[in-house]
Amino acid sequence: AKAAGRNEIRWFEPAMLEENNDRLALSAALRQALDQDELSLVYQPQVDLLTGEVVGVEALARWTSPSLGPVPPDRFIPVAEDGGMIAQLGGWVLSTACTALARVQEQVGRPLRLAVNVSPRQLRGRAWLDEIAEAIEVAGIQPSQLEVEITEGLLIEDHGDVVAMLESLRSLGVSIVVDDFGRGYSSLAYLTRFPIDKLKIDRSFVQEISTAENAAIVDAIIVMAHALGMTVVAEGVETPAQEQYLRERGCDEVQGYLYSPGVPAGSLEMVTRALSRQ
Ligand code: C2E
Ligand code: CA
Ligand code: CA
Ligand code: CA
Repeated sequence: AKAAGRNEIRWFEPAMLEENNDRLALSAALRQALDQDELSLVYQPQVDLLTGEVVGVEALARWTSPSLGPVPPDRFIPVAEDGGMIAQLGGWVLSTACTALARVQEQVGRPLRLAVNVSPRQLRGRAWLDEIAEAIEVAGIQPSQLEVEITEGLLIEDHGDVVAMLESLRSLGVSIVVDDFGRGYSSLAYLTRFPIDKLKIDRSFVQEISTAENAAIVDAIIVMAHALGMTVVAEGVETPAQEQYLRERGCDEVQGYLYSPGVPAGSLEMVTRALSRQ
């Protein structure tokens, strides 16, 4: 029996066993992938709604395994977390993305911001702060260009260390973004307790923005964020109607397939120029 919740016993079903085997295979393959450079990054542009210019990019991890084929990050990130590989993966993402940003902004001729996803477990070690500082320095970018995207779960868990850690991050000059905002939790108290610079509206609200309920939530997030001195970015923008609505409501930045999917670093200059001309 596998312990699930308290007072609850779940027996392995054949499907669970299979899932477990899958995960083991995935874990082994990922360990190898990290050592053999099978991972890559794509970068999705973020557009300023007022100027129409690309102002930043979000780094997104990609993995095509020789034996398993393409594995989406929603599958391999949790495996990296459980298998103790997230620190290595996160460190690689950070240094690779900072270096790529330095190159791309030289091509584009102006500074861009870089958003990097960080999972809660990655933040536990103090070593991580040094890694950030080092990645920035090695790449020769400014700390203010880097944004760390965290999820609400981290702020809700509130093991006292988190505030201190985020404060240190902030004092390096790095910005803190709450990803998937509004999706999982309803406590707003943490917004004033943590040093947060930006809210990213979860794409589920953006996708259903034509319904009155979702529009109301989007409105409220934008107003609240601005009242608290934060900026707002909306993710998952796919249609001109969604963009139009977000612009009218004063959303600061947008990101989504309407502009571009994530692209390899080598394509970023072209994509950035094309988008900024529109
Ligand atoms: P996320 O941080 O919420 O990233 C946004 C996801 O939405 C990405 O999926 C992106 O490709 C997708 N997306 C972008 N525009 C649109 C759109 O207009 N419509 C729709 N339907 N989707 C859009 P992706 O790349 O599969 O990443 C999934 C998740 O995996 C990310 O969600 C993030 O939580 C995690 N992840 C990705 N890379 C990393 C990483 O380097 N480190 C960590 N810790 N997590 C990562
Ligand atoms: Ca993100
Ligand atoms: Ca998100
Ligand atoms: Ca997510």
